[in-house]
Amino acid sequence: MNQRKYESINKNVIVLYDEMFPLYIVKGEKNFLIDCSITARAIGIHKTINKILGEEKIDSVLLTHSHYDHTGACSYLQNIYNFDIYGSYKTVELLKKEKVIDFIDKMNQDFKKLLKDNSKTKCDMLKNLKSVKQGDRIKIDDSSYFEILDTPGHTKCSISFLLQPEKILFPGDSVGVIERNGTIKPLFLSSYKEYEKSLNKLIKVEPNILAFCHNKYIKGKDKTKSFLELSLKSTKELKDEILKKLKKDRDFDKIAQEIFKKEFSMPFVMGPHKAIMINLKAMVNSVYKEFVEEKT
Ligand SMILES: [Zn+2]
Repeated sequence: MNQRKYESINKNVIVLYDEMFPLYIVKGEKNFLIDCSITARAIGIHKTINKILGEEKIDSVLLTHSHYDHTGACSYLQNIYNFDIYGSYKTVELLKKEKVIDFIDKMNQDFKKLLKDNSKTKCDMLKNLKSVKQGDRIKIDDSSYFEILDTPGHTKCSISFLLQPEKILFPGDSVGVIERNGTIKPLFLSSYKEYEKSLNKLIKVEPNILAFCHNKYIKGKDKTKSFLELSLKSTKELKDEILKKLKKDRDFDKIAQEIFKKEFSMPFVMGPHKAIMINLKAMVNSVYKEFVEEKT
């Protein structure tokens, strides 16, 4: 359970490095943590936060969505810091359910096995859950705040956080993931159309920094713009490819397998194979529903 390396990316934002799941601390009158990684990282995250914050604590956690790899370390850390948790209405509703927490824990225990983590850490029920929506603001101090942007499409519960006035965007999985070979993997799991709409919305934000929850962050308005535009292009291309396959075949499992073999040979974010296949099948399903079924 090593401590992580960390670095300031501007005057009040610190990134806790991790190839798969970087986390961000935003410091102010209150201290915020964006997303919560996986359970296997919980102990290391705690040690690193202690080193960064010293006597101070995490007051609030902002969740971009409810997926197991963004919520895995949440209950472990909440037991220590007793923070509030902000998420969309849907995220909050989901995380209140015992069945959902059990599923998140199951995926995390699988991930722990993969990483040979034999600790007893697990996901428990969460408390102090608060919902936010498009246009809401979460105050950091007199000069800065988070603006909430609804960005569904990756999941129905996805939102993004825009740190103002610095214009640092925390998009969660709403903009896809950069893989090892430099390609961008789209992640339209709940709805292709919504995902595309959300991406267009985030392009208009013109963020100065794009702080990814997988891989790394990008600095500079030009760089964030070209990334977001490339992400949109990759998204449309994957949709077209799925659509082409659906014209020949309606076997979602087979199509998901084919895309996996071709496109997912070098994933940055590993994780249980099962989770990757669930995601791919969800994308095939969303294209089918929105482009094939609706027309017939
Ligand atoms: Zn996700």
